Amino acid sequence: MKITNQIHLIKYPFFISVAPGKQIERFVNVFALLGEKIHLIDTGVADSFPVIEKYLKDQRREIKDIASILLTHSHPDHIGSAKKIKEITACKVYAHPAEKHWIENTELQFSQRPVPGFQKLVGGSVKVDFELYDNSLIHLEDDLTLRCFHTPGHSAGSVCFFSENEKILISGDAILLPGEIPIFENVEDYLNSINKIRNLKPKLILSAWDEPRKENEIEELLKKSESYILHIQKTVKKVVEKGTNINSMEFCKQVVSELELPEILANPLLLKSFQACLL
Ligand SMILES: [Zn+2]
Repeated sequence: MKITNQIHLIKYPFFISVAPGKQIERFVNVFALLGEKIHLIDTGVADSFPVIEKYLKDQRREIKDIASILLTHSHPDHIGSAKKIKEITACKVYAHPAEKHWIENTELQFSQRPVPGFQKLVGGSVKVDFELYDNSLIHLEDDLTLRCFHTPGHSAGSVCFFSENEKILISGDAILLPGEIPIFENVEDYLNSINKIRNLKPKLILSAWDEPRKENEIEELLKKSESYILHIQKTVKKVVEKGTNINSMEFCKQVVSELELPEILANPLLLKSFQACLL
């Protein structure tokens, strides 16, 4: 989908195996910036590759013209095709240093964060060539510059990319919405990041898994996200008061049930989010 002349959204639907024989449907957005060269923001899952290739072909562009991959963070649905694309194109990979160890060593990521179906989602490790920091200006081409903002919370090194001229923010997984799988590592950082996004006054937000959100929807979106996180934190504290061991899956299941999320979602990743509410 063409967002502007330069920014294109490539949507890729996929399934995550959450338990044997049980899958949930998800989708992830990859963004392609089409200039002289092609610059990708995130790469979807491993199976996204042919879809990215076809989209570019439809735009009369070729995969070999990809010059850069900018990663919002290291999670499997963002780095999945990076290895293959880098092998074909020798493009440069950009990421925040706090995400680097999991991008460059996906086995390590899996051992520390066992996402169900990880091996199918990720094509392998990839070297990070450039480190991104808060406020870094990324000069991709003469008329193609993005500013990077460090927006931790969802993960320690999550970043957003901002087109300052057009006031378009590509936000990765920084903005969690009610009903979504609540994955975050730090509540205070998360809320500060939402505020940072608010202060940028974007005219359009392009998230990794939401529809594009225009100016008039943005404040409501950010408020909803803040309330969802605070609601989760309150719910976690309520369950803690019942005396359930916070290191047990029973604790995770009780919070999932209180949040009225599908029981199937209770897993070690969610348990970590809930524990983060108590930091
Ligand atoms: Zn993520």
